[in-house]
Amino acid sequence: MEQIGAIAELIDALKKLPGVGPRAAQRIAYQLLNGDRSDANRLGEALLKATKTVHRCARCNNLTDGELCSYCSSHNRDDSLLCIVESVADLMVIEQSLSYHGRYFILMGRLSPLNGVGPHEIGLDKLLERAGEPEVKEVIIATSFTAEGEATAFAVSELLSKHYPQLKLTRIARGVPAGAEIEYTDVNTVAQAMLNRRVRESD
Ligand SMILES: [Zn+2]
Repeated sequence: MEQIGAIAELIDALKKLPGVGPRAAQRIAYQLLNGDRSDANRLGEALLKATKTVHRCARCNNLTDGELCSYCSSHNRDDSLLCIVESVADLMVIEQSLSYHGRYFILMGRLSPLNGVGPHEIGLDKLLERAGEPEVKEVIIATSFTAEGEATAFAVSELLSKHYPQLKLTRIARGVPAGAEIEYTDVNTVAQAMLNRRVRESD
């Protein structure tokens, strides 16, 4: 059945969500619009509110509706550790693994020169500033073990070792399979990788 107008627009928007294919999008759209509309209204209002109030944390790039996110403003985290991840989704997986209690810095993606994504686009200048704060003693590079994630890890470690030779730079261990995204790795593997992190060899 071909959809037109507002329903088609809704289905089209839902199809863009991660893990939602055309059939699921159709199912969700009809579920939202059938009968009682309270769920649909709640979703619409929550989405609108979030898009207006949520922004990047000034310190780590996490998403927050305060000035600083909960990880940056918490008094119960180890200031000497700074873990670098590619996305908020990766941060969430590391948090769920319960293997880390330091601070975070979220890159705005990973280096992809062919797509025009360079050091500036992923926020390496902001990272340089953050990692240079005196309380930071160890930077843990937790980018994915994909080609782009590895290239990003290399660029980060080159940059930081050049500017801050006293800083300990570690990379989460290879328990995470080659080519794997942190986001889709199970939390036990991530916990192991964090515990077995290694000091980066200078190449
Ligand atoms: Zn933050």
